Amino acid sequence: MKRFIPETEAVNVVKRFTCDELVELLTAYLEDALDRPSHDGVRAHLSCCEHCERYFEQFRATIRVLGDQPPEKLPTGVRDRLMSAFRERHSG
Ligand SMILES: [Zn+2]
Repeated sequence: MKRFIPETEAVNVVKRFTCDELVELLTAYLEDALDRPSHDGVRAHLSCCEHCERYFEQFRATIRVLGDQPPEKLPTGVRDRLMSAFRERHSG
């Protein structure tokens, strides 16, 4: 007897991202602009990658500090700083 597995729980449907790919997707993720597999893939990655999880928290906190601005309106400098901070820590 076959059991029905909801699409979001089927492991092979969830996209797997590298840390670099994930960073690029975070803004879209926060805007809820990703398709379902990508969204789940980001979430899955965040839940098992400490680096990205911490980066994500920092990213979100920064956006909150800046107010209710949509993430794409982040000043380029802030975004760049977050990105390079992440990359340094990650490669170091
Ligand atoms: Zn990661």
